[in-house]
Amino acid sequence: MITVDEALEKLFTLVAPLESEEVPLAEAVGRVLARDLAARRDQPPFAASAMDGYGVREDEAQPGARLKVIGEAAAGHGFDGVVNPGQAVRIFTGAPLPAGASRVIIQEDVSRSGDQITLNDNLDPKPHIRPKGCDFGVGEVMGAPRVLRPADIALLASMNNATVPVTRRPVVALISTGDELVMPGETPGPDQIIASNTFGLKALLEGLGARARILPIARDNIPSLETAFGLAAGADLVVTIGGASVGDHDLVGQVAGQMGMDRAFYKVAMRPGKPLMAGRMNGAAMVGLPGNPVSAMVCGQVFLAPMIRAMLGLGAQRSSRLTARLAAPLPQNGPREHYMRARLTPEGLVAETRQDSSLLSVLAEADALLVRPVNDPARAVGDKVEYLHF
Ligand code: AMP
Ligand code: MG
Repeated sequence: MITVDEALEKLFTLVAPLESEEVPLAEAVGRVLARDLAARRDQPPFAASAMDGYGVREDEAQPGARLKVIGEAAAGHGFDGVVNPGQAVRIFTGAPLPAGASRVIIQEDVSRSGDQITLNDNLDPKPHIRPKGCDFGVGEVMGAPRVLRPADIALLASMNNATVPVTRRPVVALISTGDELVMPGETPGPDQIIASNTFGLKALLEGLGARARILPIARDNIPSLETAFGLAAGADLVVTIGGASVGDHDLVGQVAGQMGMDRAFYKVAMRPGKPLMAGRMNGAAMVGLPGNPVSAMVCGQVFLAPMIRAMLGLGAQRSSRLTARLAAPLPQNGPREHYMRARLTPEGLVAETRQDSSLLSVLAEADALLVRPVNDPARAVGDKVEYLHF
């Protein structure tokens, strides 16, 4: 058996960062910025008023000062002249500060009569000016790689980027295998169940930025598996679910081998999980996951998610872990890394009592995979543990 980290290292050798493509800014959220992007301008491009009020000379901003209003500066329409001593310009938020003015007196601090203003007592001391380039300057860079969040999209827009170079989405083909499976919505026979894994994995992987195609279910026979692998052509990553153990009907490895996969089979020291098949097949990476629904989802989080991130150019790292304190004790762990379904409560993490790898209802109730290291000793309430947010 190999460790989870060893298995992950082997999986990383099967993938590489994908090429980039240019997408419209409005479609770039959630995508990975593929190269550094520089601001094409200063923001603001001029010293701008931060308030509605009057632009005045700093040395004249005294309580009781009487000034003559000589014009107006609004957003999009600056004032061309100069503010000379004794003068002020009516100004609005976002307007360029006129030459000569060095401070904005907010309108609440002014009494106006005709074109005359008088500054009140207790003037707000702030200048209310946004200096040129105070948000960002031309050439300032947003660094890649970076998963673009809504705030990044707004910043890229402000930098005047209409399109964005992003890493192409990895295409994943998902193949359920098994004579017992039917698609959701179909009427199962008496010995059949619904294929759930491909749907859960598609949701997981698309949330990370992949495009996942659910292929028709492959039956437990060689021609059906060959057809499914044929339909997977063009994918960057082919994932099969089930049929990967050593049972009489576990034919995935045999067929993948016949179809050109340089197959490696790993027994990974983990729970749930354990059997994992991996290799390269006709230019794509191929991973065979165990069929038990919780195993498939946990392996998706532990193995497939880091592979997707590596293909997106985000580096070859395991899924990041958080820490929390235990709200209930845990017995000693055995020789396999255990990903326990657990709940985050205000008091801390609580492992679910039922840890069977076929129980999707328990997985759906859980919001964390509590990671028990190999041979971890018994843990008490208050002990710090690591978990994956799920
Ligand atoms: P296998 O690895 O093919 O022996 O499957 C292990 C268990 O997982 C069996 O109970 C299967 O019925 C179940 N299983 C396999 N594939 C799926 C799937 N796509 N969705 C739901 N259950 C599955
Ligand atoms: Mg099966």
